[in-house]
Amino acid sequence: MAHIDLISLTKTYPGRIRPVLDGFSLNIASGELVALLGPSGSGKSTLLKLITGIERPDTGDIHFDGKSVLPVAPNKRGAVLMFQKAYLFPFLSVAENIGFGLKVQGESPKTIQKEVARLLDIIGLPGVEKRKPSQLSGGEQQRIALARALIVQPHLLLLDEPLNSLDPAVRMNLQETIRRIQRELKITTILVTHDLSEAMAMADRMALLINGQVAAVDQPMRLFQQPPNEAAARFVGITTFLKGSLAHGTLRTDYGNLMVNTNGHMANSALFAIRPEHIQVQQHPGQNAIPGKVVGCMYRGEHIEYQIAASGLAIRARVPMPAAMVPHGENVFVVFPQEYLFAINEQSVRHSSTT
Ligand code: ADP
Ligand code: MG
Repeated sequence: MAHIDLISLTKTYPGRIRPVLDGFSLNIASGELVALLGPSGSGKSTLLKLITGIERPDTGDIHFDGKSVLPVAPNKRGAVLMFQKAYLFPFLSVAENIGFGLKVQGESPKTIQKEVARLLDIIGLPGVEKRKPSQLSGGEQQRIALARALIVQPHLLLLDEPLNSLDPAVRMNLQETIRRIQRELKITTILVTHDLSEAMAMADRMALLINGQVAAVDQPMRLFQQPPNEAAARFVGITTFLKGSLAHGTLRTDYGNLMVNTNGHMANSALFAIRPEHIQVQQHPGQNAIPGKVVGCMYRGEHIEYQIAASGLAIRARVPMPAAMVPHGENVFVVFPQEYLFAINEQSVRHSSTT
């Protein structure tokens, strides 16, 4: 398939002051699935439109296999786009819907029939050729849309929140199907989603789009456990940031001294973070423990979520079951185990100079 280089892309829509994309760069290896995450309105769909050629970037370049595709017409780029809605032709049969791209290319009816059957096997719906889209469930319609996209053997598959309108069980099932097919066909894929767990389950790497740029890109586990900056950390659910001055492996903060692993971090002012599930709550003092007061306590099935106020910090801790509910106002100690505290960059994303 193809490797993709997105190079310093900028895009401002006419009549808008702020750019949607502001120096967006990302390289995607051949056969890789990269999940693109970002808040609503952050420009995810715009990026996919630039790649397919529906929109043009103001500056920057897009390479497929090392060659710019900007001079190439959208329908000649070999990138297919799949949306949240299947957009099947309602009056055509499933076979006619899937075979549409090959028909346009002038393939023979026999070839088309054979390819349609092959794709139906791949998506796990053999034998539904004669049905109409209205006779399929939402999940099945999305499978047909996927088959229709793949039949033209694209270099690049672009998925724009394709599973959003499906209920959870169907959604999980299709996540597995898409990932299996993507691996089998080794097709380079960008999956846009705002669902963090979906991105982590499906992607080789995740990229976070914040303020028009890639705020972080890494393998899901690394990005989730140790995001590089505050914006990325907040996006993956981290809310506890500890600021202080560093000296000999100790972070001196307004709430007490904490032992930290500095990993060569020499700056005297430092910001550390910790995931909510790594914070412990106990009744007694101890190392890396600061006193606080419980201001909220919620049973969430697999864990209890405590909200604790401690010296001006609002701390959210997720303690796995079995754990006890604690009454509001109770005095506790919050523990930040040294091995789970990690340093992050305070400067997250370069802010746009045009705002
Ligand atoms: P996302 O897919 O991340 O939700 P979009 O790429 O759809 O974000 O949109 C990014 C921003 O650009 C939004 O503020 C949106 O309103 C704006 N936008 C999208 N398309 C157009 C357009 N054709 N003209 C003007 N503004 C647009
Ligand atoms: Mg969108």
